[in-house]
Amino acid sequence: MLPYATAVEAEAALGRAMTVAEAAWFRYSAALPDHLLYYQTIAIILVIYTVGGVPLALLELSAPAKDVSVMPYKLQPRARLSPAEFLRCYLESARLLVLHGGALGVVSYPAVKMLGLRAGLRLPSAGETAARLVVYLLVQDYVTYWIHRVLHTRWVYRKVHRVHHEFTAPFGFVAQYAHWVDVLLLSVPSMVGPAIVPCHMTTLWLYFVILQLIAIDIHSGFDFPLNPTKFIPFYGGAKFHDYHHRIGEHSQSNFAPTFTYCDYLYGTDKGYTYHKASLAKLAKEMAENNVGEGNVNIFNKGE
Ligand SMILES: [Zn+2]
Ligand SMILES: [Zn+2]
Repeated sequence: MLPYATAVEAEAALGRAMTVAEAAWFRYSAALPDHLLYYQTIAIILVIYTVGGVPLALLELSAPAKDVSVMPYKLQPRARLSPAEFLRCYLESARLLVLHGGALGVVSYPAVKMLGLRAGLRLPSAGETAARLVVYLLVQDYVTYWIHRVLHTRWVYRKVHRVHHEFTAPFGFVAQYAHWVDVLLLSVPSMVGPAIVPCHMTTLWLYFVILQLIAIDIHSGFDFPLNPTKFIPFYGGAKFHDYHHRIGEHSQSNFAPTFTYCDYLYGTDKGYTYHKASLAKLAKEMAENNVGEGNVNIFNKGE
């Protein structure tokens, strides 16, 4: 909650006129206590999860198997699920997000407040926000990599992580589909960055929007050629994570959620590298023998 009753008071405290962004933040947050602003993070995640996942679900459900405009980009085109399965995945994920994510928000607020989360009128610059987001994403990727490796140990996988791997051909809604212990464990890495380098509430919200968009993208099950994430250096993307789901319990490849460098550094990309090389060789042989000309998506082979 901002300690100013009016915009005039706020500008007097700032010693200058508010920027457009500051004026918008004043109008939105002036009367809201900080803890209520923080609890809205779960609502933001739920909105992004829904808005991002629904178009992908509709695209997949409405595309006929032979649709040449969509299906060549589907990573596992032979895996077709019913609308009921999409709905079950969404509802279960949303329930978990609201109940466990909400509880986690309430429990974690005193800690994040103590660590320096702020919601004041003075907003961070674009450069400051971007620098923090890069640090947060790198830290989140690194810590998640190691927790994900633990989740793939035999006992933990069978008790917890197998739920997330129920869908061997993922789709957008799988981004949040997991055992509640999985959800709680993987929420830790996302808060390590903001704990080390505290930020403004707006940066935190933007960070969670980006994390959610990445989670939906890597589970989308589609590899669209014009996806802007292709321009992000070392970004893993849908192909990278799709392989992890396809292998399931025995996967010892592609643990990092966002970038590829951890798997490269620790040698857990070898299965994927071999898989890609095999498919490239197969595609080359097919091209030489004039087999399967046209829209050949080599990742559709060998399922
Ligand atoms: Zn996994
Ligand atoms: Zn996954």
